[in-house]
Amino acid sequence: MGTVHNFAAGPAVMPRKVMELARKEFQDWHGRGMSMLEMPFTSGDFPEIMESAKQKLRQLLEIPDHYHILFMQGGASAQFSLVPLNLLPTGAQAVYIETGHWSARALQEAQRYGLIKIGASSRHEGFTHIPEPATWQIPREARYCHITTNETANGVAYQEDPEMGEVPLVADMTSDFLSRPINIEKYGLIYAGAQKNIGPAGLVIVIIRDDLIETARRETPAVFSYQRQIASNNRLNTPLTYSVYLADLVFDWILEQGGVARIAERNRKRTQHFYSLIDRHQFYSNNISPHYRSTMNVCFQLPTKQLEEAFLQEAELQQLLHLRGHGDVGGIRASLYNAQPDSSVDALMDFMDAFRLRHG
Ligand SMILES: *Cc1c(COP(=O)(O)O)cnc(C)c1O
Repeated sequence: MGTVHNFAAGPAVMPRKVMELARKEFQDWHGRGMSMLEMPFTSGDFPEIMESAKQKLRQLLEIPDHYHILFMQGGASAQFSLVPLNLLPTGAQAVYIETGHWSARALQEAQRYGLIKIGASSRHEGFTHIPEPATWQIPREARYCHITTNETANGVAYQEDPEMGEVPLVADMTSDFLSRPINIEKYGLIYAGAQKNIGPAGLVIVIIRDDLIETARRETPAVFSYQRQIASNNRLNTPLTYSVYLADLVFDWILEQGGVARIAERNRKRTQHFYSLIDRHQFYSNNISPHYRSTMNVCFQLPTKQLEEAFLQEAELQQLLHLRGHGDVGGIRASLYNAQPDSSVDALMDFMDAFRLRHG
């Protein structure tokens, strides 16, 4: 098997070093004679791993003490329901900003639980930009305002943490979590599914400010209540032990890379490079407003559908894999998460130049 270049949007490529370490430790973790998979979660080594993972995440994102960190199950989509169940009392209202496929999914699900207002939407412009926060309609009674910081399917992203007034900001950061520094204090709650920038699918990280944890509805399942999980130190049910262990290794890897600011600088440079290749000729095109282009998911089109199919086929022959765009959007999508090696990005860009010369 030669090198494969995996551009999947998620589950996605993991850092090579983490995979090698996990393989080495798989059957015998640190000389304990057992795998991390076989260890109990309330005694022995696992509680320390979970604590260490939380401490490293605190360090990486400078998370202040009045924010709690939870490792939960059900992925990001479960949070589409759990955010309203935990934060929105019956009859109360919340605001959603609609900027693409995932924010639309989040708001659709939330409508089952309360009065949901759309504070701003870029749907009529084909989700090609992020509406200016100053123009958002936020009723004062809203319990929270929900955003999706990086639209994985559309390739459009917030470039700054939006400035909000009193209404707490809730953010789905699944696909750009740990890809750039953020100002945590601008947010009331952040959630991020792990399979894009952290690790295994199913794990979702929730960061929540402590004044927001007391409004869970009675019918919220206990294991999905932020309040009950925090009260039981995240051990109300068995956590995703192996996934948390892998996340801990990924956090180590990010620290070794110099932290989130360093990674952000690298990400920014290489996507700029990538977008300039797209913009250089008429052949490839990207219609996202330049300021809002995603650094994680680069979406682009070719002049015809036939050329796009040929592109995907030829790419695959060169082991450039999983480049088909999201079903809702079409075209081509290259996901360039933190763990994507520069060599794979270079291989794709070389292929794109060659393909354009052959077919352009
Ligand atoms: C992938 C993704 C999701 C869905 O994650 P699941 O783990 O499948 O629930 C939600 N939001 C965003 C922004 C995503 O990229």
